[in-house]
Amino acid sequence: MKDIKVNALYIHIPFCIKKCVYCDFNSVVSNTKTIDQYLDAINKELNSLNGRYVFNTIYIGGGTPSVLTEAQLGKLLNNVVSCVQASEIKEFTIEANPGTLTSNKVRLLKEYLVTRVSLGIQSFNDKQLNFLGRIHSGNDAINAFNLLRNVGFDNINIDLIFGCPEQSFGDWESDLRTVIELNPKHLSIYALTYEEGTPLRRNWVNGNVKKLDECVELEMYKTAIGYLTDSGYNHYEISNFAKDGYECLHNYIYWRNEGYAGVGAGAFSFVDGLRTSNIRDVYQYIEGINEGRNIKTFSECLQHEHFASETVIMNLRLRQGISDKDFHDRFGYKIYDRFGRLINRLVEDGLISYDNETLKLTDKGLFVADTVMAEFL
Ligand code: SF4
Repeated sequence: MKDIKVNALYIHIPFCIKKCVYCDFNSVVSNTKTIDQYLDAINKELNSLNGRYVFNTIYIGGGTPSVLTEAQLGKLLNNVVSCVQASEIKEFTIEANPGTLTSNKVRLLKEYLVTRVSLGIQSFNDKQLNFLGRIHSGNDAINAFNLLRNVGFDNINIDLIFGCPEQSFGDWESDLRTVIELNPKHLSIYALTYEEGTPLRRNWVNGNVKKLDECVELEMYKTAIGYLTDSGYNHYEISNFAKDGYECLHNYIYWRNEGYAGVGAGAFSFVDGLRTSNIRDVYQYIEGINEGRNIKTFSECLQHEHFASETVIMNLRLRQGISDKDFHDRFGYKIYDRFGRLINRLVEDGLISYDNETLKLTDKGLFVADTVMAEFL
C-alpha cells in the first residue's frame, strides 16, 4: 500500500448561538471567554503540526465558525494562515451561518485568503427554519448570500435540507427555485435525519412529530436532481452539485479516503494509516492542550483489507465512481479480483455498472446507495 499524503487541514469551531433541533454535531452554546481559550488551544495544536505537512486545502467547520467576533475571527484566520504555506493552498473554505455574518467579517475572510464560503441556509421557508430551530430567516439567508457576492466571493456553497415534517412538495420546489435564482457555484442537499440524542428524535419517538413518508422524501431528492442538473449543475456526489470546476477539493480528499489532519475538539485525522480523533468535550480539550496531555481519545489502525473496502465505499459516493487502475495503484490488486462475485450480482440487479475500468452506482443504485455500499464491507 502506498504512503498516503496529508494534504487537507480541518479545523473545528464547536460553538453556536443555539442548538438546532436536529443537530448532533459537536457544538455547544458558550461564552466569549471560553471561545478565546479555545482559540488559544487550537493555535497550540496548529503549531504542534509544525510544518509537517503541505496542505492544499483548509476547511474551517463547526459548529458555526461565523459566530466568532470579528476580533476572534481575525485572530483565528491569522493563526491558520501563518501555519500553512499560503502559496500551496488551492481551496480555503469556512462555514457560515446567515444569522451571524457581518460585512466586516466577510471582508476579514477575503483579507485572510478564504476562497470558499459554505452557507448553512437549509431552507428559505420561515416556517421550516423555525421548525428546525435555525436562528435566521429566509430573507437573512438571501442577504448573507448577496453580502458575500458583493464583497467578491464567487465560490459559495449553499446547504439545503429536505424532508421536514409537513414540508410540502411545493415548499421544496420553491426552495429549489430560490436557490437556482441565486445561482451559487455549489450546493449540498441532505434529507432531514432523526439522530439519537436530538430533540427532534425525542419529539418523533414521543409522537409529537411525524416523519415525512420515505417515498415522498425520495421523490424530493429526485426532483432536486432534475431541477439542478437542468440548471447546469453537475451532480458529482450523492448529496453534492457544482458548476464546472467548483467541486469541493477538500471533500474529495475524504471521498477518496486520502489523508487529512484535524485540529480542535472532536476533530478526526487520518495520517499514516492511523485514524484518530481528538477529545470531543470542549472544556476537556482546552484543559488537555494546556496541560500538554494526549488529547487523542480514539485511534484505529486501518488494516489493508478494511482500508481497501472503505475506499471502494467512499469512492462510490462519487458519480464518477472508482477507477480500477487507481485502486490497483493503491492496493496492489483490482477491485474485481476481490469483489468479483458481489460486483456481478449488483450489476445483474442494475445497481452498479462495471466496465473493467470503472465501478460506479447506476441511477437505480443511487437511490439505495447506503444498502449497496454496505455490501462492500
Ligand atoms: S448551526 Fe449547525 S452546528 Fe450549530 S446547532 Fe445548528 S446544525 Fe448544529
